[in-house]
Amino acid sequence: MARIAFIGLGHMGGGMAPNLVKAGHEVRAFDLSEEALSKACEQGCGRAGSAEEAVKDADVVITMLPAAKHVLDVYRNHVFGNAPASALLIDCSTIDVASARIVEEEASAKGYEMVDAPVSGGIAAAAAGTLAFMVGGSPQALAKAKPFIEPMAKAVIHAGGPGAGQAAKICNNMILGATMAVTCEGFVLAQKLGLGPKVFFDISSQASGQSWSMTSYCPVPGVGPKTPADNDYEGGFAAALMLKDLKLADEAAKSVGAYTPMGGEAEELFQRFVDRGGGNKDFSGIIKMIDDSWKVPDEH
Ligand code: NAD
Repeated sequence: MARIAFIGLGHMGGGMAPNLVKAGHEVRAFDLSEEALSKACEQGCGRAGSAEEAVKDADVVITMLPAAKHVLDVYRNHVFGNAPASALLIDCSTIDVASARIVEEEASAKGYEMVDAPVSGGIAAAAAGTLAFMVGGSPQALAKAKPFIEPMAKAVIHAGGPGAGQAAKICNNMILGATMAVTCEGFVLAQKLGLGPKVFFDISSQASGQSWSMTSYCPVPGVGPKTPADNDYEGGFAAALMLKDLKLADEAAKSVGAYTPMGGEAEELFQRFVDRGGGNKDFSGIIKMIDDSWKVPDEH
């Protein structure tokens, strides 16, 4: 059993931390949101009054924060110097490669071992402990981190050195943003051509239009497994966070001269959705913008 500090208990962290409790660890949780913290405590996590209190005497520190500015702030101002130098640091947030490398260099200069370990899989996988982790860091740091990641994971893949996990995640989410947008377009077009969503789902989820956005995270309510679409696009993966990832992909592409026109189109679409007030909605809610008149028709 290890003492694990878990900072950031939102849609993802709130599902992940209880799986560490179930695995027998002592989890000390902290979040700026009282609501998020209370939910985690109801599921067996211990309450910390501050990030400093959470990381004091911790064997492992795990963060699941919105963006790079939160990660840099939490490590620089709350973790470094307060967590023992023996603590292993695992950042699971999705952030840009450069910031991940900066925070890992700063951690190393202060004597900490750290990995970037962003995840794929969404809130259902976070709660079920079936996320895919892509880890950047030394093989030794990965070996130390793996036993603490495994209770939250269906797969733990070593992507390479520091920042490599974030590189994999950004490329993955560029694909996700584009496939979700075009999956929504497919449902809207199918409807206008007279195909009900269930029929179209049954066909496309078994045909070559199949993707995670179609089969596991269908943007249409009442079709396929339960998704945020069944909850009026509440919860899930906020469109603002998807936009953040598409911007990260665009910046990364520019920095290395990669041509990513579909990623650029997806970024423009999600920017428009966020500008229209959709930022807090699940990203699959973009279907409502793709067709303003979108409503689920009766089958047949
Ligand atoms: P979220 O906004 O629901 O949760 C983030 C939590 O961090 C919030 O509860 C917030 O209060 C807390 N927080 C912010 N600053 C803090 C601070 N200084 N100290 C303590 N707590 C602080 O976001 P989420 O959907 O859980 O996503 C978290 C990360 O995981 C993001 O980087 C996102 O891109 C990534 N991600 C999300 C999903 C998804 O489906 N939601 C999937 C894969 C990856």
